[in-house]
Amino acid sequence: MTARGVDMRPPKAALLLLVVTVLTACESTPTLETDPDPRIVAIHEHAVFADMHAHPSRFHRENIESITAAEIEVYRRSTIDLVVANISSDMAFDGAYVNRDGTEVKEGEYKPAPGEAYALSADRLARLQKTFELGYAVHADTPADVLAARKNNDVAIMPALEGADALEGNIENLYKMHDDGLRLLQLIHFRNNELGHTQTWPYSPGGLTEFGREVVREANRLGIVIDMAHANNETMMDVLELSRHPVIFSHGGVREFTDHDRAVTDEQIRAIAENGGAVGIWPHGRHISTVAEMVDYIEHVIKIGGIDHVGIGSDLRGISRYVIGFDEEANFHAIAEELLRRGYSDSDVGKVMGGNFFRIWQTVSGSGNQG
Ligand SMILES: [Zn+2]
Repeated sequence: MTARGVDMRPPKAALLLLVVTVLTACESTPTLETDPDPRIVAIHEHAVFADMHAHPSRFHRENIESITAAEIEVYRRSTIDLVVANISSDMAFDGAYVNRDGTEVKEGEYKPAPGEAYALSADRLARLQKTFELGYAVHADTPADVLAARKNNDVAIMPALEGADALEGNIENLYKMHDDGLRLLQLIHFRNNELGHTQTWPYSPGGLTEFGREVVREANRLGIVIDMAHANNETMMDVLELSRHPVIFSHGGVREFTDHDRAVTDEQIRAIAENGGAVGIWPHGRHISTVAEMVDYIEHVIKIGGIDHVGIGSDLRGISRYVIGFDEEANFHAIAEELLRRGYSDSDVGKVMGGNFFRIWQTVSGSGNQG
């Protein structure tokens, strides 16, 4: 449009244009660049970017039919290709969720009848399926699907359970959920379950149960990624000894810098790295305050376990406060920028941003070396 054309516009229309322009500017998130750093774009061309642990749109706890298109946009802006979407499968026991009919189940107010934990989680799996049906995201059924999706600028979602409580001690439930798209299984969440023991209070001694061992073996056979986040040390060590495949610890901190229960020790980092897996660091605003601090944690995992054994687990919408610079908009690029600032190579940044996690999934699913 020429300047002359603008001049000829009636004043009312010009004012409307101004209002629309201002409103559009307000809607876009000011803290996130719309055009990412060209160096990050170049890194992304050679590496899958992944979020190892999230609850997009709080789909597991809110009364919604699917993850929203707007939430998928949050990931697209950060060029994230693969998102692990977690159903907290101990919700049936611990509460803090909204039913389909809008009734709110408060924390600790409810004891489920047999079959309910499975049914509740199956309902959340159906919400993920709905997200795919609506075309907001695609199902990360295989690693090849992620590679295809990113060519179309699509985000792929990997359905996961946070806590295998929904299995209710029955291996058939694992088979059913695998058929329904489950591709990652975090064994333990906030309670001791049929598989093993939790990392947080109230602490109790003990590792993997017989059922836990059966689940690890079957997850290995089915190519489901095993996640040890929230498991106590004995359970973790049992899993590492038994698993034929690399396993992950998707989201947490490091004990080097914090005494928090959800932080991993150097011994655990070493054991996970030796097994070929990875530790995901989270941007939890109640434990750390800036992206730089988060990258200090990432660097510690690199120092102890090596560059091939670290990733990012945002816990998006599962926690209430994020570090400054990551924020509610989930600015993953800020992490890549900080790594570049510290002198990491493009290839190393790609590994942290999701390359390592994707490689692990390829190994676990038996579809390695596809990209
Ligand atoms: Zn968690």
